Amino acid sequence: MKILVINTGSSSIKYKLFDVDRQRLLASGAAEKIGEETSLLTHGTVLPTGEKKEIVEEQRISDHEDGLKRIVDLLVDPEHGVVGDKSQISAIGHRVVHGGEAFQSPTIVDEEVLEAIRENIPLAPLHNPPNLLGIEVARRIFPDSLQVAVFDTAFHHTLPVEAFLYAIPCRLYEEHKVRRYGFHGTSHAYVAERAAAYLGRPLEALNLITIHLGNGASMAAVKEGRCVDTTMGMTPLAGLVMGTRSGDVDPALPFFLAFHLGMSLKEIDDLLNKESGLKGLCGTNDMREVIHKRDEGDRAAEIALDLYAYRIKKYIGAYFAAMGSLHAVVFTAGVGENSPAVRELCCRGLENLGIEIDRGRNALPGGEIREIGSPESEVKILVVPTNEELRIAQETKRVIESKTRT
Ligand code: ADP
Repeated sequence: MKILVINTGSSSIKYKLFDVDRQRLLASGAAEKIGEETSLLTHGTVLPTGEKKEIVEEQRISDHEDGLKRIVDLLVDPEHGVVGDKSQISAIGHRVVHGGEAFQSPTIVDEEVLEAIRENIPLAPLHNPPNLLGIEVARRIFPDSLQVAVFDTAFHHTLPVEAFLYAIPCRLYEEHKVRRYGFHGTSHAYVAERAAAYLGRPLEALNLITIHLGNGASMAAVKEGRCVDTTMGMTPLAGLVMGTRSGDVDPALPFFLAFHLGMSLKEIDDLLNKESGLKGLCGTNDMREVIHKRDEGDRAAEIALDLYAYRIKKYIGAYFAAMGSLHAVVFTAGVGENSPAVRELCCRGLENLGIEIDRGRNALPGGEIREIGSPESEVKILVVPTNEELRIAQETKRVIESKTRT
């Protein structure tokens, strides 16, 4: 079964086409700078030999519909394509950032679902509108294919009330759905399952802490297969130090910025979401550069890295306490998969919790799932490459098959 996974942003459409039954990626790419004078279309195919071919086209893409049409043209192109006809694509899986409380699992899109995603726009004003647009455009271009929405928030729907409610007047939850939702759920779910398979135990028998460290970063406490806490909140701003987001700050900070510095709400929003995190601390949001600067003796980069790791370490302790016991810590995403330095800093000093990294194993490169704890470490420490798009494709297939069965 061939499934196209789409992640639509305000000026981009990222895509991956999978042969899900064989777990094979057939093509991937992105239409970027949509609506600008010069847009960019990147299209890569993976040959059965594993060899990759990529083409890049620079020409204006007027809107998202135009973008998706061009992508489809490339997918069926006799020279660069991977399918003979678009009817061979059975379904489209869409990443939707905010499912609110309405969606606890992937869902086949119909008018009612579209309306419910629309209702969640106040909770994710930057993400849900382009996600919706992506679905609408795909429905026009693939009128005969099923569209499935896979929500970033869904994996966290099992959070108990003490983990999801904020200590503010209850009516804000009851009337306006103000609460912790959590994000990166597709990634946390994927790596938790992969970790359990690697450890050869059912996920329901394990307590895991999954640590997703990309540009955005979050952690999840996964107790017996159910997520019981996560660091992001009603929005992705909460929790860990990220590339450009502050993560946790005193909730009164915006008042200070407004009353004492005269900043507008928009300026405060931009400051905390786009100018903070690693970038705010040492001038760059790219972890490779932060590490490089630290190694060159840059004190600001050293502090940024220490703060980044310290926050993760605090949450490891918190989630250990929340779950009562811990079988494995799982690192994933760009930083988590590729930075021995960050992983070591996060685990340093946690030996009394049974978390002991093996420096040799940690330093080994590798794109596969692997163990980096010392043989004495009571808690396993794993690096698990994430694959959110594959997970979306698998979930899409699962939803479609269960629909055909009923
Ligand atoms: P996104 O959230 O955009 O999907 P990624 O998961 O690709 O992000 O992660 C991006 C981050 O991973 C960047 O900060 C980048 O510097 C970092 N990264 C990638 N490779 C390495 C590496 N070898 N060492 C340290 N950090 C890395």
